[in-house]
Amino acid sequence: MTDKNIDKKVAERKSTQHKARMQSVKSKVDLRIDDAQEERGILIVITGNGKGKSTSGFGTIARAVGHGLTAAVVQYIKGTWTCGERTLLENAGVSFDVMATGFTWNTQDKSLDIAAAQKVWQKNKALLNDPSIDVLLLDELTYMVAYKYIDLDEVITALKSRPKDQHVIITGRGCHRDIIALADTVSEVQSIKHAFDNGIKAQQGIDW
Ligand code: ATP
Ligand code: MG
Repeated sequence: MTDKNIDKKVAERKSTQHKARMQSVKSKVDLRIDDAQEERGILIVITGNGKGKSTSGFGTIARAVGHGLTAAVVQYIKGTWTCGERTLLENAGVSFDVMATGFTWNTQDKSLDIAAAQKVWQKNKALLNDPSIDVLLLDELTYMVAYKYIDLDEVITALKSRPKDQHVIITGRGCHRDIIALADTVSEVQSIKHAFDNGIKAQQGIDW
């Protein structure tokens, strides 16, 4: 047999083996797809210290809106600067409720912060009770629970009693373990490096 023919035979065998492997993978995936038949709203948590939590949440809202679903956003903390997503998504009919009243990281007035958080939480609870909302993003809610500005049990109760088909996305660092336990999908974004560590300023359109 010539070298050329040997190469051809080896290539053919590799191709057959690859096909068999792919068929096996496909049949396993098909079985899992067949098994996943339940349809209901899911709770997604995007937590961790790396960049990409809020942008992931907004990406999902954009995806849902693109399919004609009704979406709403509740944002905790970032009252003072408007993120680019807001302008875009409000124009696409997405409602925004933002904790805007005087909250900053450095605030000295805790009672003011609690009042601001509670005001948005009341709206948040109404959205969690509204079957016309298909997808709801609760951006940075984790901090409100960590600071005890919003009661954990109230959050859990509201999430559990939301409309059956409503999807909820919660973002923020340090998500409480009880919310993680309740969630269907949880991703932890790990920071490997961040431009800020090298003195690069937060940039419009990238960081907010
Ligand atoms: P993004 O909104 O870009 O998806 P995020 O929601 O994951 O970020 P947050 O903790 O909400 O992160 O912080 C928002 C801001 O802080 C953004 O400007 C982001 O670039 C910046 N940031 C996020 N992670 C880090 C980090 N590990 N080091 C420094 N800055 C960060
Ligand atoms: Mg964020």
